[in-house]
Formats: sequence, structure tokens, C-alpha cells
Amino acid sequence: MMPFTYQRARDPADAVQRACAPAAKYLGGGTNLVDLMRESLEETAGGSLIIGAAARNTAVAEHLVVRSRYPVLARAILAGASAQIRNMATVGGNILQRTRCTYFYDNDGSRCNKRSPGQGCDAIGGFNRNHAILGASPACIATHPSDMCVALAMLDAHVHLRSAGGDRTVPFTDIHRLPGDQPDRDTTLDPGDLITAIELPALPVAKHSTYRKVRDRSSYAFALVSVAAALETEDGKVNDVRLALGGVAHKPWRALKAEAALRGGPATETAFREAAEIELADARPQSANGFKIELAQRTLTAVLIGLGQVKP
Ligand code: SF4
Repeated sequence: MMPFTYQRARDPADAVQRACAPAAKYLGGGTNLVDLMRESLEETAGGSLIIGAAARNTAVAEHLVVRSRYPVLARAILAGASAQIRNMATVGGNILQRTRCTYFYDNDGSRCNKRSPGQGCDAIGGFNRNHAILGASPACIATHPSDMCVALAMLDAHVHLRSAGGDRTVPFTDIHRLPGDQPDRDTTLDPGDLITAIELPALPVAKHSTYRKVRDRSSYAFALVSVAAALETEDGKVNDVRLALGGVAHKPWRALKAEAALRGGPATETAFREAAEIELADARPQSANGFKIELAQRTLTAVLIGLGQVKP
């Protein structure tokens, strides 16, 4: 919880003077503002929403502003883990969680370049049903496990960072990295960087957004494939669209090629399917996860049909 104080103004002039203090807000009934401040969520004058890094996943998912303006984020968080874990987990911790590749955790018997650089990767040719089909390297084919991060990538979120050198803000899609020849590095953060907050831009299309997660069982399982999507149509055309995929790469995968193919074009099932095929054209399956390519295409198409209320 973020600490804050209350001051009663004597008159309007006194209220205006007190409101000049940094981060001061006018308070009416407080039914929304106090919620926002207490849970480290705050709307800026420009309309963006700032979420403190220590905010609990459950508090974010249940917050009225998140549910009404960014439903994809609430749905993504609720699709992850168990209620007990969501009550404990924070936004900052969720971003920095590490892959659930089985070999990464098997310190005794498995080779893993992420755990021990240069050792090799037993997932390649091994048990790789859950592994990457996009952006992988010969050094590592792991996937990022977060659901929340797929939504943040789609929403053009920014990450507020503090370090010994000062504060800076980084696009969320630049925080995680593809493995390349350094799979031991999950992020672009420098040593000592502290995530202090996430900022969601004012994004009208985000009101029409959702998250769909496909997994082996209906709870407490990581995504085989997931889709975060926002779509706005007018007169049968795509006005605006934002897409991201989870469970397919070492980082949340922003589907920019599919977005470009769709923007301004017809909002039809055929166009949605073609865009999904364009996005997955560079997919390279491993020995046991070729099914993910069609699964991602179908899920992306189905989510867009639902958002666009197109009759399949
Ligand atoms: Fe390690 Fe990555 Fe290979 Fe898994 S996929 S064993 S995390 S190097």
C-alpha cells in the first residue's frame, strides 16, 4: 500500500495552494481516487494509468479502472497461476519471473545454457512441447511464462526504472530480450535497475480488448499459446488493432506484422486468418511443438472474430 495523507482546505484559495504540492490530488467523495492511491494505481492528467511495481496482481486485476479501460490486463492476470499466488505476486515480480523450462530447474542432470552458459541445451531434441516457435536461437528455445506481460506488450506499456544513475522510462517491449547467444540474460535491465512502476497509455482501443490462453488443463498451467488483442472496427474496416502472443517466444511477442496487415483493411474472418498466417510465417517448430503454429493462428483468428463480432 502506498502511504498518503489527508489535508482539509479552509477555502477554495487554500485548496488551490495545497494542491500545488507534488502528487497532491483534490478529493471529492474519494470512492475512486482513494482506491487508486491505496493500491498504487493512479490516473495521470494525460489519461495514462500508472501502476506501482509493488501492487499485487489480484489488486490490479480486480481494479475497476483496469477492468473498464484495460480488460485484457485483468483477464491476463486472472488466467495466471492460482488465487493464492496472485494475492502474493507483484507487478514487478511478475515481469521478472524466469522461464519454466524443465531443464533450467534440473540442476543435477541436465545441460542448460541459461543456467550455465556454454553447457548446451537439452530441450533441443528433448521435451520441448512448451517451447518457442518464434525468435529462438541454437542456444535456447525457452518461452517467457507470464500472462500479464503479454497484455502489457500489447498495450504499449512503459516501464519506469530507478537506478544509481537516475530515473528513466523504457518501452515494455524493450525490457525482455530474445536469447541469441546470451540466453542467461532474460532482460535488458542493468545491474541495480529497480522497476518502480508500469505506465499504461491512454489507449481508446484497449476498451475493446481481451486475453485468451490455451493450455493443457484449465487452471494452474502455463500457456501453450495465448493471445492478447484489442480491436476497433468501423463500417466493416479495422480502425485500430493491437496484438501480442504468449507461449511462443523468449519474450512476449508483439504481433506487429499481423497488425500492419489488418490496419485499415476489412474486418473479416478471411483477413484475420491471413494476418495470423503472416505473423506465424517465420515460426520454426521444435521436435514436439509443431502444433503450436496452427494453434496460434487459430487462436488469434478466433479472438479477432470475437472482438470484431464477425460471424464465422
Ligand atoms: Fe536451458 Fe533454454 Fe535450453 Fe531450457 S531451452 S534447457 S532454459 S537453454
